Amino acid sequence: MKSWKIGKFFGITLELHWTTILFLVFLVVLSPIYSYIFLILFIIISLHELSHSVVAKHYNVKVSKIILLPIGGMAVMQEERLKPKVEFLMSIAGPLFNFLFAGVVLAVASTGVLPVYNLSAWDAMTNGKIPLEFVGYTISTLFWLNWILGAFNMFIPAIPMDGGRAFRAILAMIWGYVKATRIAAITSKIITALMFLIAIFSFNIILLLVSVFIFLGANAEIEQAVNISAMTRIDMKKLIKRRSVKLKKNATVLDAIAAMRRLNVTQVFVGDYKHAVMIDDISRVNKNNWKNTLAIQLAKEVRPARLGSRPDVIMQLFTSQDIDILPVTNGKRVVGFVERDNLEKAVRVARTVMG
Ligand code: ZN
Repeated sequence: MKSWKIGKFFGITLELHWTTILFLVFLVVLSPIYSYIFLILFIIISLHELSHSVVAKHYNVKVSKIILLPIGGMAVMQEERLKPKVEFLMSIAGPLFNFLFAGVVLAVASTGVLPVYNLSAWDAMTNGKIPLEFVGYTISTLFWLNWILGAFNMFIPAIPMDGGRAFRAILAMIWGYVKATRIAAITSKIITALMFLIAIFSFNIILLLVSVFIFLGANAEIEQAVNISAMTRIDMKKLIKRRSVKLKKNATVLDAIAAMRRLNVTQVFVGDYKHAVMIDDISRVNKNNWKNTLAIQLAKEVRPARLGSRPDVIMQLFTSQDIDILPVTNGKRVVGFVERDNLEKAVRVARTVMG
């Protein structure tokens, strides 16, 4: 997943996914007026996602970045299991921001200070015609997009939409995380089935895609909830190993590959336990250069897990960093290592025990 960094806001990195860039280029070619709408839409989506993230940060939930996809924004969080209250507040923050924005636009427009405030310009926009009044056009676009985005996210109680997450959070206060997700996922599927039918009968392609997207999202959510719940049954202490391979700082790529072959591992540390080289990184280097390339040049920095971290937090550290072996620290000292394979096996066993 290649994406480009746009900037950092409130300590959160905003990235543009390559498919989004492709989509925008496609739109510019197709119709300049549509690209203008989408540009405004992407700014609004970014602010919407940032609102979620700012609330998350307030509750010490770490948000590593926001990726803008053609279908909307996605916040990458380091923690997946949230307290119901936090999830509720985080979920409603995005749509609430949109309503606030729409309200301010409406208030400003209705004072008449601005040259034009023609909110019915929506018709002209959707026809793809460029209205004569550019300012009025922009204002009306800002109003309508905020209103639609807010309402769409808030009032469809289908997970993974914001309304669905808020709904799940309320259920989780009563029945706990997994049962709440099950009920929320079933509700989502009923809603998407209805949306799908409406889309078919009204030949609405966008609605059709949205319903499929929500359906798949609901499935992913239930899968994740079951995994997280299974993980609470894993005894992390049993998975911690004492040793891992660490090469000298001046080791070459050839040394790294030799160690990997000898010990049947896909990752070795170089110099210290903060830098690791993965087999996939090596495969990108020409074989002839293995002997004269330092392994440390390919190494990525590894964020370790703290001793006593929950299994789901550890799993998140594996996936967010895309590594196979994770050092475990107690204070500043490395006290052991966890292998991703072993954790995944433990999750499978725990899921089967859960039934
Ligand atoms: Zn949202």
